[in-house]
Parts: sequence; structure tokens; C-alpha cells
Amino acid sequence: MDDPLSTPAPTLSTEDAIIAAVSVFGIKADDARSLGSERDQAMMLFSGGEPQCVMKVSNLAQDPLLLDLESLAACHVASVDPSVPVAVPLKILGAEDMRGQWKHHDGKSYWIRCYPVMPGTQREYGDGPLSNGLLKAWAITSARCSKALRSFGHVAAFNKVTPWDAQRTLMMRPLLIYVPEERGLRSLCTDVMNFFESDVMPRLRLLRHQVVHGDFNMGNVLVQNEKISGVVDFGDMSFTSIATDIASMFCALGLSHVRVGGRIDGAPELLRMGRILLDGYQAITPLDEHEIAIIPDLWMARVCLEMVCFSWRTGTGLETQQRIDTWGPEQPLFEAQLRALWELGPKGRASGLLFASDFSGNAPGTVSDAPTAAMADRRNRSIGPGSEPLSYSDDPLWVSHASGCWITDTSGRKFLDCYNNVPCVGHAHPRVAVAIARQASKANVNMRYLHPLAITLAERLKSSLPADLDTVFFCNSGSEANDLAWRMATSVTKARGAMCTKHAYHGISEATIAFSPETAASCGHLPTHVERWAPPDAYRSTDLTDTAFRAALARLNSKGLNLAMVILDGVMQSDGIVQLEPEYVQKLVQLTHEAGGLWCADEVQGGHGRVGSHMWSFQKFGISPDFVTMGKPMGNGHPVACCITKRAIADQFVANEGVYFSTFGGNPVSCAAGHAVLDVLEDEAVLPRVLIAGDTLRQATRDAAAAAGLDCVGDVRGRGLATGIEIVTDGVTKDPNAELCSAIKNALKRRGVLVGTAGPHCNVLKVRPPLAFTAAEVPVFVDAFVGAVQDALAA
Ligand code: PMP
Repeated sequence: MDDPLSTPAPTLSTEDAIIAAVSVFGIKADDARSLGSERDQAMMLFSGGEPQCVMKVSNLAQDPLLLDLESLAACHVASVDPSVPVAVPLKILGAEDMRGQWKHHDGKSYWIRCYPVMPGTQREYGDGPLSNGLLKAWAITSARCSKALRSFGHVAAFNKVTPWDAQRTLMMRPLLIYVPEERGLRSLCTDVMNFFESDVMPRLRLLRHQVVHGDFNMGNVLVQNEKISGVVDFGDMSFTSIATDIASMFCALGLSHVRVGGRIDGAPELLRMGRILLDGYQAITPLDEHEIAIIPDLWMARVCLEMVCFSWRTGTGLETQQRIDTWGPEQPLFEAQLRALWELGPKGRASGLLFASDFSGNAPGTVSDAPTAAMADRRNRSIGPGSEPLSYSDDPLWVSHASGCWITDTSGRKFLDCYNNVPCVGHAHPRVAVAIARQASKANVNMRYLHPLAITLAERLKSSLPADLDTVFFCNSGSEANDLAWRMATSVTKARGAMCTKHAYHGISEATIAFSPETAASCGHLPTHVERWAPPDAYRSTDLTDTAFRAALARLNSKGLNLAMVILDGVMQSDGIVQLEPEYVQKLVQLTHEAGGLWCADEVQGGHGRVGSHMWSFQKFGISPDFVTMGKPMGNGHPVACCITKRAIADQFVANEGVYFSTFGGNPVSCAAGHAVLDVLEDEAVLPRVLIAGDTLRQATRDAAAAAGLDCVGDVRGRGLATGIEIVTDGVTKDPNAELCSAIKNALKRRGVLVGTAGPHCNVLKVRPPLAFTAAEVPVFVDAFVGAVQDALAA
């Protein structure tokens, strides 16, 4: 144990203090009152009843280098961030030094420092819980102090070993014998130390370390009008993790929060306090996941240290009666805190700091290990059958986290994601995640205020499109974007008829479900104002001309409807990823315009580089649409979408219908995500990579299927990373085999690969991974695919 802790604190008399103040600092005083200190002697000096300074007489065992460390750190904080009200030591008479030596008549020399009197008062633990405002202010000041100390270094700090540092919990292990056996207290402290050794120690090296104040407790932080007016006493500084610094604050303030309204409240209030403190801290310094996860464990360790140290010092007579009188009554509050934190268990402690009700919906701080089936049942009870059913309903995927094109479930199993196109540049791409978080912590407002992010995003999108597509409407989903295109088309053309492909999907709103026969047809809701045409199927060599389109247009007209809009998904995702020829699409656009209609290129699936050769799938057809709609990949998972059109169309629409406003449309957070996606597409040269990955994937799949003699793999087609694998009963009849296709999809999941199914006969495997998928993942897919087909055939 360090010497100052086991050497009694100095006991200068009032007269001694008055003499020392004037001789070393030139401060005249006529009275001195003790402020109570554990290792040193702290006094407030008065003159004529007015406070003059705070004097600190250091423990004789104290290394003077450490005193300099404290003084220099306080000066450093004051100069880096003057908003932190730190007490900066006064200089001694006629010199720059901040400590002076005073020789007592007993022959001993004491190091003395004097500080200005800071405004405000110390709160008492008995004052009860702090207000939320004060908790936040406390944490904000702590975070600012640590931030200012980031650039501070001193050799004494690196060498300093302080037993209060929760990271050094095990140093106190030999002192456990002083902890009373009553109520199982010693064994509880022993359990905590054992847990620390096995579970906390290994994680310490992942934490950010620096010099920290280390003791934002009630004695060291002064409060005035619910604001922090002073930070004193850098005596517990050390070089440690910022998580440890935060944990010490939690421990100190926990004493006021463990007891609410006179009774021990325990975990719920402690965790609520912790969450508010973290809000304050993270307003200044965001913490990483390791730091947040370890804070409650370090908090518990610090409470344990407080108890062990007090037991030891009282047990060996080191504690003064004054401190025993002050701290003795607080021991039950430490004990209550320790029990509450321990009983939460590691998961409860960690989740309780993040959510008032954890993700399993249990009471604060308890985590359910509910089996997947039980969670699925809960989903059904509160979300019901109206929302899209779970994929793999026999064994649903419970996602824990994801990165690139890999998803990890809660059991730790990794799946190659060949299904999700929304996380376009890869799951949890740091560029996008940080862009969202940064903007969310700055401001998020609507389009009524001037903010450059929507404007610059609109400019970037426009610059990738034909020049006449010059007006951008931001919204939140692909459905809304298509809905708006439809409103504009009908408003401008004054016509009511629409056309889409036979098995298309374009959205969920009343207008867009009408041209989403993939969904609408299954319930028999095929509205009369929409005509559908079957796209050519090159695999079966059906009619590859525009005949079906012309016939659909004629049917529309025969109902007395004129054409307002034709909508086409350039990668034909819902129609089975059939491949369209440029001449064919060009012809359809021409026929549309001749019929007075407008063309909507739906890029919700095919945009943002999915086809590899172009940014937008319509570009590979060489056409010039009237509307381009974007969604899904635009924010890499963050909801953001848009409809881009020509100024003349927009003007006409506004004249007819009034302006368009969607609360979230164009908000800066969504636009930050939109920018980040475009940045990554450029920086990582994603498009050429997509071309190679897609071609490699299709060729390797064809080769492997042929080598394994898999006759049911009828056709492997696509462009970029939009691939369809058509499953048939055999290669001769080419009969669609939906059952086998579904069995292969499920077998692929069992083998660790996620895909979807699509097409009018549900017999096309939809292989549509995040664009983070590269040629390196191809063998993983192909091996699993061949195995899955064999599994499905054998079943
Ligand atoms: N268009 C296409 C081509 C789509 O695939 C989808 C969604 N699957 C939409 C529009 C609708 O987008 P959202 O679900 O964002 O409304």
C-alpha cells in the first residue's frame, strides 16, 4: 500500500496554518477550519470571517514530484479548457513555484499548497439524488476535464500507483481479511475480486488510457445553483483508462442514488443515474463499445475498493475518528450499491447502462436468454401476422451484428449475406455509421431551414444523371418516391393509366401497390387502371419483341384510359432477374412517349452501382427517363429516398397540386448517410469490383453446377451483383420448380448463406449481396450452393 495511505495525515494547529500561510504565500489570515482529508490536511483560512484560501498540507510520505504533477495538471486543464472551473494552485511568495516548504517547530518540514476559494458548496450524500441537470453537468465537466488532460503527460503520472484506481483492484486483495464477515460481506467482496480477475482484467488493455482526475466525488466537485462551480483536488490523478475515471464518478454519485426517499432502491435508480451520466459524458466524448461495456464492472470494483479500504484503515487504526464518523454511516450505502451491481450480473450491468428496458423487453438490467422460438412468438403477439413474415420461419435468424457482407447471429454463427441489397457498401460500414452519428449529434432539422447537406446531395445525384433530370425531391422510402412520381405523372399528363411488368414490385402505398402485382396479384387486387406486360424470357426463348407491351397499352386504351406512366425496375428483381436488351427498352420508352406517358426508372433495386457497369441500371439501356426514383441502398440502411425529375414536370406539378413536403425528407442525418454512401462507392472503386465479382460468381456457379451434374440449375443470369439462378425440374422441360427452389434456399441457410427467391413462379434464387461482396466470397457461395442443391435433392 502506498505510504501516504498508511502514514497518518498531518495535524498542524490553527496557529501553525496562519503562520505558514503568511510566511510561504504572503496570505494573511486569523483563523483556519479543517475541511477533512484522508491523507493530507486541508483547511480553509479566514481573515475577519472572510475565506482567504484553501491550504493543503501534504502527507509527510508524499513524493513532492506528485505534488507538482497535481499542480501542473490543474494548470493544464485551466489553459486548455477554461470552462472547466479547476482550482489552480497559488504561487509562493516571490517565485513561480506552487508548493512551498514550511518547517514546523517539531523539526519536520511540510509541503504546503494554497488554492483560491472556489464558489459553491459541496453536496452531501444525504442530500438525496441529484437532479438530472446536475448529473449531466457533473458528467460533462468530468468529460471536459479528461479531454483537456489528453494532451497532458508527466513522468510522475506514469509511475504513480494509486490503490483507488479500479484497474488495480487486485492490489487490495490481501486486505480482504479486514472486511467483516457479517452478512456475507467478505465473501461478496471476494467474489467481486475473483470476477475482476477472470472477466475484467483481460478487457482492460482494450481501453483508452491517459492521465485523469480520477475522483469526481462530492467532496471534489463544488456546486452552485445546480451548476458545477469548482473542481478541486487532483490528488487521485493517475494514468489509467477513461472508463476507470468514469466508474469512480458513478461510484461516488451512486451513494446518493442507491437510496431514494429513505429506502434502498438498488439497481433501477443506479442504472438510471448511470444512463443520464453517460448522456452527459458522451455529449463531449463518445465512448466506444468496450468502454461502455466495462464501466459497470469497474464501477462495481471501485465500490468494492472503497469498502475494503475503509475496513482496512479502520481495522488498523489509520482512520481518524472524524472520518469514521463521516464515512461509517455511508458504508451501508456502499454495501447496497455493491449488492445491487453484483446481483445484476455481467449482462444486466452492461445492458442496463444502454437501455432502460433491454432489447428483450425485460425489466432494466436483466437480459433474457430467451430462445429464438420464444422471441419469434413474442414478435407475433405484438407485431402480428400483418407485417412481412420471418424468413426461415422454422429457425429464424436472430441478428446480433454484421459487417461487410457477413451477418453474425446471437449464437456467434456467421452467415454470408447474399440477400441484402440495402447495406449497399456493406453492413455497418464505418463511414456511413460515423456520418450518421456525427450529424445526429450536431443537428437534425427539416427542409424548411437552409442546410447544405440536402443541397449538395441533390447536386451530386444530379451530376450522375442526364442533364435534364435536374430537380430532386427527397423522401423516406422507395414507395414514397414512386408514389410521388405517379402523382406528378398523373398531374402533368392528366391521364390515369399505368403500366408495369407482370410480376413487378414498386411499393406499398395505395398508388404504388397498384403497380406491384407481385404483392397485389396474390390477393386478387389487380386494379383496372394498371395494365401489365410480360417481359421477354430469353431462357425459354419467348417472344423477345415489344408485342406484349403494345398489347397491354392497347388494353389500357380500350378501357378508355390514357397512359400516364410506365415504371420499370432496371434489374427486373421481382420478375425473376430476366435480362432486357437495350433496343427493347428503348422501344418501350419511345412507345410510352408516343402514347403521351412518362417513363419512371425505378432504381430502388438497380441503382447505386448494383449493375457495376453503370451507377444507375437504366443507363445500360441508353434511355432518358422522365423520373428516376431511388431508395433502399441510398442510405446503406438509413431510410432515405428521392424522386428526381425534370424542372418542367416539377413546376407543372407544383402549379397543379401545391408544394411537396415530407417531414423527414432531406433531413441532414439522412443526407449525411447519402453522401457517405456515394463517397464510399467512389473511394473504394466499388463499381468495377461489382462487375468482376458478379461475373465471377455467375461463371463459377455455372461451372460448379455443370461439374456436379445439377440439371435443376436451369439458368444463371444477371448483371453486376444482381443474379438470378433459375431452378427447374430438369433442363429439358425447363419446368419451374418452386418447391425445390425454396428447399435450396433453406439448405443454403443451414450451410451459412442467405439468399432470397423471386420470379413469377417463385423458382428463381435471388442472389443480391451487399456490394461489399467480392470475388473472394465466390467460393464460399459456390461450395454452399452445390451442397445445398444436393441436400435439397436428397431430401
Ligand atoms: N421499388 C422497387 C424496385 C423495390 O424493390 C422496392 C422495395 N422492395 C420498392 C420500390 C419500395 O421501396 P420501399 O420498401 O422502401 O418502400
